Amino acid sequence: MFLVQLIYASKVSDMFLPGDVESILESARNNNKALGITGMLCFNSTYFLQCLEGSRAAVNKIFNTISADSRHDAMLILAYSEIYKRDFGDWDMGYVSESKLKRKLMLKYASTDTFNPFSMQGESALNLLSDLKSELS
Ligand code: FAD
Repeated sequence: MFLVQLIYASKVSDMFLPGDVESILESARNNNKALGITGMLCFNSTYFLQCLEGSRAAVNKIFNTISADSRHDAMLILAYSEIYKRDFGDWDMGYVSESKLKRKLMLKYASTDTFNPFSMQGESALNLLSDLKSELS
C-alpha cells in the first residue's frame, strides 16, 4: 500500500498532566514501530505539532486513536498527502521540545515568533519539521 503523510496541530486539554509527554512518546514509539509508522512530534507546553507517515490504513488508524485522546483537543489537520518517500523514516516518533523551538526559526515559517502551529500552513509546518530534524531525540 502506498505511503501518506499527515500533519496536524492540537492544544493541550485540562486533562493533560506533567509527565504526559513521556508516556505519549513511550506509547508512540512502541505502537508506531509495530504499525510501520514514522514521524515527529513538537511540543511547547501548550501546542502539539505532529507528523505521521506510513501506509494510509495505518496512519488513518493511529490518527483516529490520537483524536480520541483526552489529553489534547482542538485538533486541526494542516496537511494530508500521498508521498513517494518518508521524510522522518529514521524515527518511530522523533521528539522536539520547547527549548529547541527558537524564535528565529518560528519567524521563518510563521507570522509570530512563538510556536503556534495553528498559525501555520501545511507546507510551512512540514518545512519547519524538516529544519528541526537535526534536533530530534
Ligand atoms: P499504553 O501505551 O498502554 O498507555 C500508556 C498510558 O498512557 C496508560 O497507562 C495511560 O496512563 C495513558 N493513556 C493512554 N491513553 C490515554 C488517553 N486516551 N487519555 C489519557 N491517558 C491515556 N500513540 C501512538 O501510538 N502513536 C503516536 O504517534 C501517538 N501520538 C500522540 C500524540 C499526541 C499529541 C497525543 C496526545 C497522544 C499520542 N498518542 C500516540 C497516544 C494515543 O493517543 C494513545 O494514548 C496510545 O496510542 C494508546 O496506546 P496503548 O493502547 O498502547 O496504551
